[in-house]
Amino acid sequence: MSISDNLYKIKKIISNSVTLVAVSKNRSTLNILEAYNNGHRVFGENKVQELTKKSESLPKDINWHMIGHLQTNKVKFIAPFISLIHTVDSFKLLKEINKRAYQNNRIIDCLLQVHIAQEKSKFGFNIDEIDNVIEKSYILKNVKIRGLMGMASYTENKTQLKKEFKNLKKKFYKLSKEHQTILSMGMSNDYKLAIQEGSNMIRIGSAIFGKRN
Ligand SMILES: *Cc1c(COP(=O)(O)O)cnc(C)c1O
Repeated sequence: MSISDNLYKIKKIISNSVTLVAVSKNRSTLNILEAYNNGHRVFGENKVQELTKKSESLPKDINWHMIGHLQTNKVKFIAPFISLIHTVDSFKLLKEINKRAYQNNRIIDCLLQVHIAQEKSKFGFNIDEIDNVIEKSYILKNVKIRGLMGMASYTENKTQLKKEFKNLKKKFYKLSKEHQTILSMGMSNDYKLAIQEGSNMIRIGSAIFGKRN
């Protein structure tokens, strides 16, 4: 199956209300261009250096999403062009994004990353921290919190996955309308389940571009 075939297949399964982020980390610009030439415009990367380099060499109408852990000292490199940051996991990071967005005369859309998996992870807020972060964020005029992002456990156990997606969805629907635009959950192995559980943005790498090395 080619990249175009895979894209076509996935887009046929998902509805128009679900945004497909093609996760292009570790993929060549040629691979990305194949998806681009099929009309795809939304790509996700997880490393700042790779993201910045690709954004410089690829067409300017691509919407780039940051989906990996973001260090505060690297925000300045992506602030001029990033269209959505999925991985805000501290208020300090949100403040820095706000500062750099202001310097670039932009308002940057952000998602708060929530830790929903069983595995221990350094990244992501606990669900019960979200309200406080949103409350504190009102003074930051150059960022907009548009919703939540979560990564489920690395497991085949559908009951477990479902439980984690449901938790995140429940929190999402309790947010006020202005923060309730994007629910980013679901990857190659679990996106169908994630959509059943209310996701409207999926991040797909290997199901489009093939297995990663
Ligand atoms: C790599 C990655 C994905 C895509 O994973 P696949 O299993 O290849 O679809 C999605 N989200 C994040 C945060 C990732 O780092």
